[in-house]
Amino acid sequence: MRNPRHDILFDSIQLGPVTAKNRFYQVPHCTGMGWRRPKTLAAMRQVKAEGGWGVVNTEYCSIHPTSDNDAYPFCALWDQEDIAAHHLMTSAVHKHGALAGVELWIGGGMVVNLGTRIPALGLRNRPQTDFTVLNPGQNRQIDKQDIQNIRAWHRNAAKRALEAEFDIVYVYATHGYLLSEFLNPETNTRSDEYGGSLENRVRLIRELIEETKEIVEGKAAVATRFSIGLEDAESYDAFGLLSDLPDVWDLTVPDYSVEMGNSRFVKEAALTNSVEKAKAMTSKPVVAVGRFTSPDTMAQLLKDGVQDMIGAARPSIADPFIPNKIDAGQIEDIRECIGCNVCYAHDSLGVPIRCTQNPTMGEEWRLGWHPEKVKRAPKPQKVLVVGAGPAGLEATRVLGEMGHNVLLAEADRTLGGRVTKEAKLPGLSEWTRVRDWRLTQIDKLATVEVFPQSPMTVESIKELDVSHVFIATGAKWAKDAIGRHSDVGFTYSEPGMILGGDKIIEGTEIGAQKIVIYDDDHYYFGSVCALELRKRGHEVVLVTPAGRVCGWGAYTDEQEASTNALINAGIEIITNKTIDNVTSGGAELCCVFSNNRSTIACDAVVPLTRKIPVTDLYDDLISDENGCRAAGLQSVARIGDAEAPSIIAAAIHSGYRAAIDLGQDIDLAQCYGRREHPATTR
Ligand code: ADP
Ligand code: SF4
Repeated sequence: MRNPRHDILFDSIQLGPVTAKNRFYQVPHCTGMGWRRPKTLAAMRQVKAEGGWGVVNTEYCSIHPTSDNDAYPFCALWDQEDIAAHHLMTSAVHKHGALAGVELWIGGGMVVNLGTRIPALGLRNRPQTDFTVLNPGQNRQIDKQDIQNIRAWHRNAAKRALEAEFDIVYVYATHGYLLSEFLNPETNTRSDEYGGSLENRVRLIRELIEETKEIVEGKAAVATRFSIGLEDAESYDAFGLLSDLPDVWDLTVPDYSVEMGNSRFVKEAALTNSVEKAKAMTSKPVVAVGRFTSPDTMAQLLKDGVQDMIGAARPSIADPFIPNKIDAGQIEDIRECIGCNVCYAHDSLGVPIRCTQNPTMGEEWRLGWHPEKVKRAPKPQKVLVVGAGPAGLEATRVLGEMGHNVLLAEADRTLGGRVTKEAKLPGLSEWTRVRDWRLTQIDKLATVEVFPQSPMTVESIKELDVSHVFIATGAKWAKDAIGRHSDVGFTYSEPGMILGGDKIIEGTEIGAQKIVIYDDDHYYFGSVCALELRKRGHEVVLVTPAGRVCGWGAYTDEQEASTNALINAGIEIITNKTIDNVTSGGAELCCVFSNNRSTIACDAVVPLTRKIPVTDLYDDLISDENGCRAAGLQSVARIGDAEAPSIIAAAIHSGYRAAIDLGQDIDLAQCYGRREHPATTR
């Protein structure tokens, strides 16, 4: 039963000529699918609509081959085939009574058109303004004729959007793309009617909104994605010039690291103050994101008139069924986003997005996975899961929901494995959601029993009379320093100076005063451990063979804030150096380019270079094959970090897949061979 406090979230709302059935609005978000994977995309968006979102949008959708962001996956509406591809999505979304929106996109100087090889059309003679990509080559500075062309392409794309049966068509005026270049007085140095005064700088946006409205008149709403920020007074002046023009505003802030903030640094509702000010300036509905997962926060924002619709990208990825769950009063079942940005990272890597919390994300079409439904097992089995980290918890949950009889044994007093430990490190508290959501679900399953403080051995397993065992015993940081940059690791004379990374997350006191972390892992862990040790009063030096620390954190949008935090905490950062020898009282550094050597004084070194799976139990079971068979065991499998150490999203995925596939003879080539082969008409 829905809590009346949340009723306001289910009021319908008029967006120009169309009506959204409720206030849940999945804003345009990248998917790593784009024009190459229209079926994958349509199936994923359909699940969002099924989960109750009133509006479901595409990702950025190019209007013309001069806007091409290859190798980042993007959508396109260039021709008839694109219309057919998008129609898969709109009809899937309409089936569930949701509106479908398309974010028409003009790349400007942010792209270099690696795919089409046509010069990109930017506002000035500059290299690509997306400085996260260092492609050589510059865009062509646009002239008046280009502006006329862009307007015509946009109009034509809007016509195609109608043909594809979209209900909402965007003018996309932020995130650094062409229309942002026009707005910004620093990048817009034109001296004609499109440059100079603010009125001139908003001119093209105004023209595009007016022209799109003309094209879609009466059939679709026109949305405008736009940035306003309290630190940027002029953004409100620009907004004021356009305030009642589109049918709906999709508002964000100028700083993308706030909008897309990693939860290490940015929490729920971070945009609210900026949005509230703009909302007071317009009569049109306002949508805004804020990584909202709390229905109370959502309802309060609507009641307070801060915004009219709850925008979401990440929360809708982690749980596509948030609206339906709020409607049914199942608040504890909401699978809350943890703000790790692993989804976003994989879009940048050019593969379909995945999610730490939702293992089915991106697999709706290829593998037919669904975030809320698993098939009942035809013949329930008695299964033991050893280890209650993310992999073990997920396998237990899914096996239980399939109707299997599950025993979950965990050696520790507390459940959650690495998540419980790592969540105590600076900024990672939201990661407990991974554990807590699974424990809540497991608690509801009558066929699952959980046994903490139960270290398992071969003998104790044999006594349990189980048919299948999943070994989810995790992995430990190695002390040997073998890793990406070294086949042999470093040499050392005093073993006591080398500390395993687990020592830090176990919270045990460390005697050393000055500690060197050798980070050949390149993600959050090294930086977070450095901050933790600093907090505990140690002197900390972070050494990495890379040019920057937290290199993979560039994908999860945390590298800059993370490095800033290290600098502010007084942590010394040494880049482009390996460590190959630890002597008494020091570590020897070697320059990755010149091989020049230097020494840094320290009392301890923590190598973060690789993890070793904990497989003693697995190995013992495998080597006692006959004994296990005699005890009724039919299968033993490693999952999660015990199989192959990786990010938490991989452990959750591993647990889910192992459970779903139990007892089936899976032909991997058949499963993963389900690729998208475009049905071309030419
Ligand atoms: P993953 O990320 O793969 O889920 P974790 O390292 O988070 O792995 O969790 C592994 C869990 O397995 C830890 O909580 C650990 O205490 C537990 N564990 C390891 N060996 C045993 C064992 N023999 N019996 C029961 N639990 C175990
Ligand atoms: Fe949220 Fe992380 Fe899932 Fe992205 S990957 S939706 S940030 S939990």
